[in-house]
Amino acid sequence: MRTIKKFRIAFVFIFFITPLLIFGQNIPKPEEILGFEVGADYHLATYTQAIEYFKILAKNTAKMKLFDTGKTSMGQTMTYAVISSPENLSKLDHYRTISKKLSLVQGLSEVEARKLAQEGKAVVYIDGGLHASECAPAQHNIQLAYNLITAKDKTTLKILDDVILILVFANPDGMNLLAEWYHPNVGTPYEVSPMPWLYHKYAGHDNNRDSYIANLVETQNLTKLVNQDWYPVILYNHHQTAPFPARIWTPPNSEPTNPNVHPLIVRWQNLIGSAMGAAFDEEGKEGAISRIIFDTWYPGYVTQVVDSHNIISILTETALYRYATPHFYTIGDFPKEYQDLTMSAFYPNPWKGGWWRFKDAVDYCLTASMAVLDVASKYRKELLFNKYKMGQDVINRFSQEPPYAWIIPEKQHDFSTTSLLLERMMLLGIDVYRSEESFSCDGIKYPAGTFIIPMSQPFALFIKNVFEEQHYPDLRKYSDLWQGLIRPRKFEGAPFESYDMMGWTLPYQLGVQVLAANSPLKPGMTQLKEVIPPEGKIVGNPSFAYLIGHETNASFTAMNKILSQEGRLLWAKESFSAQKAEFPEGTIIVPSQSVKRSFMEKLAKELSLKIIGISASPNIKTYKLKKVRIGMYKSWIPSTDEGWTRLILEKYEFPYTNIFDADIRAGNLKNNYDALIMPDTYRPELVIEGYPKGTMPPKYVGGITLQGLRNLKTFTQEGGLLIFMNSVCNLAIENFRLPVRNALRKVKREDFVCDGSVLRMEFDTKHPIAYGMPEEAGTIFLDSCAFEIMPTFEEKKTPVSVAKYPAENPLMSGWIYGEKLIQQKSTIMEVPYGQGKIILLGFPVQFRAQPYGTFKLLFNSLLYAGAY
Ligand SMILES: [Zn+2]
Repeated sequence: MRTIKKFRIAFVFIFFITPLLIFGQNIPKPEEILGFEVGADYHLATYTQAIEYFKILAKNTAKMKLFDTGKTSMGQTMTYAVISSPENLSKLDHYRTISKKLSLVQGLSEVEARKLAQEGKAVVYIDGGLHASECAPAQHNIQLAYNLITAKDKTTLKILDDVILILVFANPDGMNLLAEWYHPNVGTPYEVSPMPWLYHKYAGHDNNRDSYIANLVETQNLTKLVNQDWYPVILYNHHQTAPFPARIWTPPNSEPTNPNVHPLIVRWQNLIGSAMGAAFDEEGKEGAISRIIFDTWYPGYVTQVVDSHNIISILTETALYRYATPHFYTIGDFPKEYQDLTMSAFYPNPWKGGWWRFKDAVDYCLTASMAVLDVASKYRKELLFNKYKMGQDVINRFSQEPPYAWIIPEKQHDFSTTSLLLERMMLLGIDVYRSEESFSCDGIKYPAGTFIIPMSQPFALFIKNVFEEQHYPDLRKYSDLWQGLIRPRKFEGAPFESYDMMGWTLPYQLGVQVLAANSPLKPGMTQLKEVIPPEGKIVGNPSFAYLIGHETNASFTAMNKILSQEGRLLWAKESFSAQKAEFPEGTIIVPSQSVKRSFMEKLAKELSLKIIGISASPNIKTYKLKKVRIGMYKSWIPSTDEGWTRLILEKYEFPYTNIFDADIRAGNLKNNYDALIMPDTYRPELVIEGYPKGTMPPKYVGGITLQGLRNLKTFTQEGGLLIFMNSVCNLAIENFRLPVRNALRKVKREDFVCDGSVLRMEFDTKHPIAYGMPEEAGTIFLDSCAFEIMPTFEEKKTPVSVAKYPAENPLMSGWIYGEKLIQQKSTIMEVPYGQGKIILLGFPVQFRAQPYGTFKLLFNSLLYAGAY
């Protein structure tokens, strides 16, 4: 008996304990691997450490799997975790297919959809660390994974049964950069000093402005994960900049609301935000606020881009002091209107001050994430069915009302950019077709081969959102929208500002012709798997020279490749005819003797260029171009504009060197550079001043100084070309005493408002800076300039205007107020200065690397430095 009993006990032991041995006891707490508790004061885990820990977790649990989704800008692998019950993880592909079917709708009846909603799991995407200086969210990922895997309570186990969590580190490079900057400074006077470089190789904070065009590899990786792999019902993007003194900001969002989302998205955002609020108050965590500051108008964010993909986006902003350093606040530190701790509908439990430790921020993130997962679990079926419902509603809507489709003619000013736009839309989950036959729509005839994006697809609202013109609401008119707002925001007399851009219409920014189909069209068409550009080739006899059009952005890659091979390069100063065709000013001429034919053939193929060979000289005046040594100014006050500029310089193969404050202060610039770029910054004076003494380690203090400014003048006087970008033009005008005035300098908000819109601009295409531009194009306006030429006695020094606003209202998309101030004013100036030139690019021609239609203006300016 005994033996048998013993045996039975042993059996029971093995049966119940073994799983624990495999999946329980070996699961180390984060601190056992990291060496500190998640959220401990002064400690940040790097991405490398976090993934090392995740790998250990994944080995020791059946509740977590790891996947890779491409590389980062600095070459790291982006690894993410999928967390759910072991049963769900063993059938991941099955649930992923259900998600996909409900999301893409096609061919699914309502009955079938309800069945799938019953069976499916709610896929929820949560990320941390997009904005790396907002440190808590990325750290919270580590604790969240551990908590979910080891939890034994009923609620969490139910969550794991109902939900498949995709847990993402959105900016691995930034997470490492921040920890590497912060840790050596802890305990020094510079513990909370800002990091003097961007926390993403190119974009810094703007990595949350890239989502509707996906120029960054990280955005491309995450876009693929969301739109092609997982089709989540909720996407939750953590941030850490709460409006002080609140401890966390959650939805409901502020106004204005983007009109291109299904109303169910807004309803669910409100519901989830309120559920979060309730979770905070239940746990006694004060200070959750909603409905101020953060609006949903702009779709470049990680969050808002998915709303039009029928994914409920959730943004939160937890409170941040600096990095992992704690801070004590008294009510006296609060803004006046918050000091009496008034209870209100969207701030019912005001924070009363006290210590705010890093652990508090991590804990708030954890409460918020668990609240989202809990809603996803409780409303699993409704969320899944609603996803189908939203897609079906969108398809039904645009089978009955315009636009029925978007038509993109194959013949474009710049096909390389058209092709890029179509590729990015496909990456963003949009189906693109090509007509097999000619057809008519709205009285216009289109040939076979025309690109078509039908609106009968579930994410059609996204296409509408980025292709149509934006009409930003004049928020002075809609007083009811402001009920419930707590913080007084002054908008009497001046229109209400937007949180980000007011208008962004991508076809305008990219210079691609796109037409809305206002009547139904159904030509035979094939869905594209990839965009195949027309075949590049050489035509004609190139015994004298090769000709390349200046219209396509790909021509700049070609020019840079030719220069790097020591090939010769000319620009036609005059228009001419050859081979029975007309060639405009700016046509690129490559003398045959300076390049091999095989090289030019390869170039044509790689860049899809039509290169024309000519056998005799056209006998015209030309600019000869030589290689240009480009210096790109990099301030220790990091500028996203500088980063984005680097991104496009590299994309189009411009060689460049970064130059720093010390280099400019040292002078002798002309010995090393032919062209210098001064990128935009949020306050032009900072270029001179830099960080004040004592705020940063000495190396990073001080700016270019007045000596640096004098050195820049000398550089130009000695023949250099100095380019000022957007608002930094003011620095040149004021300090170089140029005969130019900016009509918008210090203009009052009551007189002029244009917070990020697309405006029409006219170009002098006979000027080398505007070679290859159309005569009119859409341009971005944000903190931009409107120049007037002031009288000067020296004729040789008269500035030349290259671009100006038209005589009528220039607004193409967004909002403008006080437009008369800029009409007919110039925006690009070539200003002779000594032996050299100053180029004022008075609007952001390369803003966030998005307006591909105006990149040429910077590129031409750079190459112009080598023209003689
Ligand atoms: Zn942020």
